[in-house]
Amino acid sequence: MYLIRKLQKHHENTALKLLHFYFSLRFKLGKVDIPYFELVLTTKCTLRCESCNNLMQYFHPKNQYTCTIEGITQALDKLFTAIDSIQSIRIIGGEPLLFKDLDKIITYLGKQEKLLCFNIVTNGTLLFRQEALHALNACLNVEVHISDYSASANLKIPLKREALINQLNTHNIPYYVLWTNNNSSWWDPGRIYKRNRTKEEIICNFKACMMPCVSLMSNEGITSGEKNIAPSGALFVCPIASSLSRLRGLKEFEGDFINLSDSNLKTRIIEFYAQSFFQACDYCHDMWLEKKYIPIALQTDKILEIQNTTLCK
Ligand code: SF4
Ligand code: SF4
Repeated sequence: MYLIRKLQKHHENTALKLLHFYFSLRFKLGKVDIPYFELVLTTKCTLRCESCNNLMQYFHPKNQYTCTIEGITQALDKLFTAIDSIQSIRIIGGEPLLFKDLDKIITYLGKQEKLLCFNIVTNGTLLFRQEALHALNACLNVEVHISDYSASANLKIPLKREALINQLNTHNIPYYVLWTNNNSSWWDPGRIYKRNRTKEEIICNFKACMMPCVSLMSNEGITSGEKNIAPSGALFVCPIASSLSRLRGLKEFEGDFINLSDSNLKTRIIEFYAQSFFQACDYCHDMWLEKKYIPIALQTDKILEIQNTTLCK
């Protein structure tokens, strides 16, 4: 058994080295390959987890972000034109099944030749509409990922996981359940507030985190005064950063994100992936400290507020 594991590890390492060599070579030839990003369709959710890593607990019904199909495909068109390949996209929310044009975005992504595969993550409280099931069935490179929040101590709405699985089985759609059990826990994201760290400390926080969840939003939900900052949407370092752009405004985070209307988009993408200073990282707790674990998906009725000062410590 030990020998088999060692051989598997050896093959994994060799495969990783080959992939690294392949993508480095492509980069030297001027190709831009993006490994992964998350496509945020909405900040609305059927649950309200008090420790949601995407900051849904900070959104008020009046300041929610939901893209339009026109807005999000315009943003994606810009990105697909500038790059050479994307390994994987994850469609997220909030809860993506709340997005009324989910079928259209599935069909759009399924036709992209530069995209290897994509998936949709759902919290298992809703079923797919018929149009979305047909769109999923027509794609060869999509999977549905179902989170299992049955271990949550205070869910306020029922999970529909079994019915959802039946739907997917009936339509031959590949899926994966992210099973948890009663002993499962989440990593505590802590309170989000501006800590007023120095630039060096913020860089340190980013380097300790290295969250590889680059996150794309259209320009919907941006205040009218800021519409021109990123008129076709933007790519952020992570879902916390993309949510902060709606909760605090885009202007505060200029320099953090890729403006998808940038006339030199390819160069900006390369710069972004080499960047280590993101003002959003000043809002997260000290990432170098040992992780604290908490019960999963505890629900709250409160709308949390993002503070400005260190008084919240
Ligand atoms: S289910 Fe919970 S963790 Fe997931 S997006 Fe909704 S609020 Fe956030
Ligand atoms: S804002 Fe920065 S520190 Fe916080 S999760 Fe995103 S990348 Fe990490």
